[in-house]
Amino acid sequence: MALTFKQLLALSSDQISKASRYRVSSFGTGMRAKGTLYTAVVEGGSKPRRCSILLTDPGDKDTQAFVGCNCDYFKYHCETALAARGTAQPLRSDGSMPVKRNPSFRPHLCVHLVKLATLVAVKRLQQRINKKPATKQKTSSRIRSLTKR
Ligand SMILES: [Zn+2]
Repeated sequence: MALTFKQLLALSSDQISKASRYRVSSFGTGMRAKGTLYTAVVEGGSKPRRCSILLTDPGDKDTQAFVGCNCDYFKYHCETALAARGTAQPLRSDGSMPVKRNPSFRPHLCVHLVKLATLVAVKRLQQRINKKPATKQKTSSRIRSLTKR
């Protein structure tokens, strides 16, 4: 079983302050057979980087995540450690474990993926707020009770 989106963010907390200095220059969402795919171009480092996060069930708080980024940090530090947990595919690295760069094999995200992940987290939160009919009902009944007086 792949790591959950929540687990990935928690394991990458050391990258969050760095990610705040980066910006998303393009963002896209698409439906795939396996879930919802979020893609972004993230700028702020030496080159703009393309990264993606696939959430198997974005409406579920324990959704699993599959990730990828075309930066070197992801290739050398993250990819095989994430692939070992079923959360990435070893596409860019040669599949060998990052013995020197990530000796504990900690599965975590690069700064670009953290930037995209925080954006995705905000979007999921907004969707959840918009979906809550209970709040709307409360407001409308409050308006009704106010107009009755
Ligand atoms: Zn990256």
